Amino acid sequence: MENNKHVCGICDQTKKEGIFLYQLYICSECEKEILSIKSQDENYQYYVEKLRAINQSIYTI
Ligand SMILES: [Zn+2]
Repeated sequence: MENNKHVCGICDQTKKEGIFLYQLYICSECEKEILSIKSQDENYQYYVEKLRAINQSIYTI
């Protein structure tokens, strides 16, 4: 019975380790990936879009 599991907002998987960025939970794996990708990378755009969506949801609450 663990209560410290959250659904990662990036990969949509339930993980134990991670951080909250704004209201989005990001698992440590995705966090690592975000930090490791370069802004020229295609994937970077994907994460930026995700993070932008969080930002917008904050303002619409
Ligand atoms: Zn994740």
